[in-house]
Amino acid sequence: MAQNVYSIKKEMCEIGKRIWQKGFCAGNEGNHSVRISDNRVLTTPTGISKGFLTPDMICTVDMEGKQIDTSNKYKRTSEVLVHLAIYKKRPDVKAVIHSHPPHATTFAIAQIPLPEGIHPEAEVFLGRVPTAPYATPSKQDLPDSITPLIGPQTNSVLMGNHGSVSFSTSLIDTYYKLEILDAYCRILLLTKQLGHANILNAQQMTELLEVKKKFGLPDERLACSAQGCVGEVNDPFLASFNDVRPSTACECGGGNVTHSTSTSGAMGDAEFETLVQTITDQILAGS
Ligand SMILES: [Zn+2]
Repeated sequence: MAQNVYSIKKEMCEIGKRIWQKGFCAGNEGNHSVRISDNRVLTTPTGISKGFLTPDMICTVDMEGKQIDTSNKYKRTSEVLVHLAIYKKRPDVKAVIHSHPPHATTFAIAQIPLPEGIHPEAEVFLGRVPTAPYATPSKQDLPDSITPLIGPQTNSVLMGNHGSVSFSTSLIDTYYKLEILDAYCRILLLTKQLGHANILNAQQMTELLEVKKKFGLPDERLACSAQGCVGEVNDPFLASFNDVRPSTACECGGGNVTHSTSTSGAMGDAEFETLVQTITDQILAGS
């Protein structure tokens, strides 16, 4: 590994600070880890705020969760079992962050699947985000509830009534996944207040997934997006949208304003081009 262990521990503290500052973990909540070899994982300790981590607090465990650095007075998080289950399932994963991001957690509490075909950023950087059923924290039930949902392209899972887990090939990229997840959920909740959402149509979604593939991010939904398969999980989110304005709402003579349905409010070509360019620029900028 190119980075030495001490610099990885320092990076874990820096990421902890960002997690805490963003309000993703209150009190001592949350934990993150980095896999440094086939049988060694660095993990945050139990009982310490993610905002106040120092490198000496970071614990080292083996792939069964046994703490190796026995002289360390800090004890590894009990949730390391979730991290290890993910590392075992996905050899490409090098870092895991478990957190309680408030906006994403509301979806996990409501058990409303994250809708698709709404926000290009979320489609490109997150893809499909499954929701696990509720499981008791610190027990084997928790990793058992999550791992069956992890496919080769999954990078984020919502944990029922609990929070989220993000994972990727580096700690910083894993942190970006977490930020994007909560930002996306915040946007969805704000959209909900407006009562209407334009959904990308099958052609727009297919073009977006093609762009994603071009940047080395394959998405299995590309195989069926042209047939309109993306968005089949959207109904629970869209169910309570107030999509039709009551006809008595306006008597000023401006005519009856009919709101478009969710599929006919398609974006213009020029607008879509701009959107794709924006995503492209962000990817090239190294996000
Ligand atoms: Zn938790």
